[in-house]
Amino acid sequence: MRVKLSLILISALILILLLSPLVLPSKAPVRDEPASAPAWTWALFSQVQAMTPSAVSELEEIGPIPQYRLWLDVSFTADGPRLSGHGRLDYINNEGVALNELYLRLYPNGGLTYGSGSLSLDRVMINGKPVKPLLELGETAVRLELEEPLLPGETLVLEMDFSGEVPRDFSGPASYGIYDYTGGMLKLANWFPILAAYDEDGWHLDPFYSWGDAVYSETALFEVRITAPAEQMVVATGTELEAVPQEGGRVTHHYVSGPVRDFFVAMSPELERLTSQVGETVINSYYLKGDEAGGRKALEMAMAALELFNLRFGPYPFAELDLLETPLPWAGGVEYPGIVLISDKLYGPPEYLARKEPFFAMILSHEVAHQWWYSLVGNDVIREPWLDEALATYSSGIYAQEVSGEAAYQELLSGWWYNYHRARAQVEAPITAPLEQFHNNSIYYGIVYCGGALFYHELRAILGDEVFFAGLQEYLQRFKYGVATTGELLALFEEVSGRELDELYNRWLFAPVNMVSAEA
Ligand SMILES: [Zn+2]
Repeated sequence: MRVKLSLILISALILILLLSPLVLPSKAPVRDEPASAPAWTWALFSQVQAMTPSAVSELEEIGPIPQYRLWLDVSFTADGPRLSGHGRLDYINNEGVALNELYLRLYPNGGLTYGSGSLSLDRVMINGKPVKPLLELGETAVRLELEEPLLPGETLVLEMDFSGEVPRDFSGPASYGIYDYTGGMLKLANWFPILAAYDEDGWHLDPFYSWGDAVYSETALFEVRITAPAEQMVVATGTELEAVPQEGGRVTHHYVSGPVRDFFVAMSPELERLTSQVGETVINSYYLKGDEAGGRKALEMAMAALELFNLRFGPYPFAELDLLETPLPWAGGVEYPGIVLISDKLYGPPEYLARKEPFFAMILSHEVAHQWWYSLVGNDVIREPWLDEALATYSSGIYAQEVSGEAAYQELLSGWWYNYHRARAQVEAPITAPLEQFHNNSIYYGIVYCGGALFYHELRAILGDEVFFAGLQEYLQRFKYGVATTGELLALFEEVSGRELDELYNRWLFAPVNMVSAEA
């Protein structure tokens, strides 16, 4: 692998040198920080290793985007894990308007799905000058006022120190176990201050809830160095470039992510790993000691899912995809860029695995599908959560049908109807409603995941397979590394099919109460 990567690196280097007038952001006047424009170019040299060889050129096509360099130090004390970190964010204003302020989010301070942990921003400098962080929204957002407006195309360098405390044993009433230390496994969702998303509505500072996902963020490049005790097996978004031993029995793991919208980290001394490859992507299945049969099952399913989704949706562009068996208080799985968390409740001896297989396959294929719908094609998960969830759920149906057979698909379909009707009896919110209208996880699941998947079932029946999958491929191509909206998705299917689909859209997606007669 090392030889292959060096070749990729050298060819990328040559390519970048040849294309350097394109790569250097010529529109972007560099202010106060002469190193920031070359920083983008240099970032590509290492970021190349997070991509499959076929997708290396996408790094350049995407153009300059924000770039995080993060250092995380993890230690384990009698009181639990302690995090301290430092970061440098090379920010480029790609928003088309002058910005007077930046917003970062500190998600672990919001409680709810993050449990009872915290994240504090201890020091911020912008272009070398200290800036006072102004905490808002229950300390889940930080406003940073800029000395002078940052014009479109201009860059700035933000440096920050931060620290975090991670709760133990799913503490907090609505913990997802994603920022948590349980059973010797440390999981760190949103362990660093992350840029809030910005779009035509301005900075997105939505609250989050005890159901659904919290993080709406834009694509960036991450280069991350994680220092932890040597006995910890570290699992993270992206590709590990090297592991460098340090004094005191510690190791620094060095990662690059490619263009992604978040960077997840987990570690445990209790993990083992099985590895395989599909096309140009290495799949690692991390499982808890003793669960090798489940680790192997997860690996086989992920291989089938990756192969199928590469074909149906378009190629997964990253060199690595990780599966992680982990304690989760009640969810079957959770998705992050390049990583799929799977509940340890699905793992067990072979006879248990055989019994659980349909559910295991449903969870795993749903979470793997999120690598396309959420990670590659982003959406506002607070205001339009159906965009990624309905499509990931329907994708698990595509997996069931093509990998497990028509009977497995029919089984899922009747489950979707059951859950949809049950939730529909409790809430009038349409499938496309924002997160806040769903009250709890089971209603949210029934309407958005199951109702949304039923919409896709009917859309596919109307359009036929060829047009339906051409539509999904176009959706990926058009919005890859970007953000899609409901309006854009629906217009795209009308455009690709050449058909007017208003009746279907209104009946399924916008009517406060959908017509149950659609079942017939
Ligand atoms: Zn999902």
